[in-house]
Amino acid sequence: MGDFSLLWLQSAACGGDSMSLLGLENPNLIELLGNQGITLLWHPSLSPERPRQLQTIIDAILADDRHLDLLCIEGAIVNGPEGTGLADVLGGRPKRDLIGELCARAKFVLAMGTCASYGGIPAAPPNPMDVTGMQWRNKEPGGLLAPDWLSRGGLPVINVAGCPAHPLNMAQSIINLLIQGTAMVLDEWNRPQESYNTMVHQGCTRNEYHEYDMEETDFGGRGCLFFNLGCQGPKTSGSCNSSLWNNQKSKPRAGVPCFGCTSPSFPKNKDFFKTDKIGDVPVELPTGVERPNYMAYKGLAKAAAPQRLKDRTTGL
Ligand code: SF4
Ligand code: SF4
Repeated sequence: MGDFSLLWLQSAACGGDSMSLLGLENPNLIELLGNQGITLLWHPSLSPERPRQLQTIIDAILADDRHLDLLCIEGAIVNGPEGTGLADVLGGRPKRDLIGELCARAKFVLAMGTCASYGGIPAAPPNPMDVTGMQWRNKEPGGLLAPDWLSRGGLPVINVAGCPAHPLNMAQSIINLLIQGTAMVLDEWNRPQESYNTMVHQGCTRNEYHEYDMEETDFGGRGCLFFNLGCQGPKTSGSCNSSLWNNQKSKPRAGVPCFGCTSPSFPKNKDFFKTDKIGDVPVELPTGVERPNYMAYKGLAKAAAPQRLKDRTTGL
């Protein structure tokens, strides 16, 4: 048993982040906890104790009889109906209130997944239960905690975004908190910079097709999925394609467009599988690209495309 304690709670969650974390390899989750000397106070899929005993653990933390180093929240915060939070309760109390009190005791707080980070799918319009993230409401402040809230360890809620979050990003965040503590560097959306400093587009095996504007109109082809099929890879910060899922694949590598699930604005109110365009030019361009430059480049790139790409004979 280590002396760095971790409590994992689910609020409005599908359990996908827990499933993702259980798929962690090298080290697996049990090794990760053991190697780092982490005491798991509670996790819904791993703890043998009955849910009733979870309440005992929470009571001990709230009474300052048990210290809490790391609080991991999976799922969005429910404020409805009518501001009561009673649509999601634990031990008869709104989970929202309980989580707020636990945050005041925790040294660090990790939001695991886009729901806990920004609201995610449960907060999609019309959002009748007034669901938010831990410290954000999509791209704006307005989550459970105030925008200037800091944990005892001096950091805001750290957003390990993704739907689900990538297991390596979750594991790295836990380890980096242990090693770096307050020195951990976050990006503008309070995501750990180390895990979110590349675009999903980088490392995609379809990149050469993208460069030469070789686009697919149907699934199953080898071309790029940006121009017609809705891929958000060039607009999304995330480690997919650099850290593969199950050490095998990513959505774009497998032929499915990136949905931009690490973004605070996920899910966008649009068709995931369609690129909105004006003429043949996407409305949303890759991050940082100027439209006039893009227009000039696009025609030239297509004209310069190698025959092996036009014939789809690259093997990728
Ligand atoms: S972020 Fe995605 S995987 Fe995680 S709880 Fe929400 S819907 Fe499920
Ligand atoms: S499929 Fe998506 S991620 Fe891959 S190259 Fe095209 S735009 Fe980039």
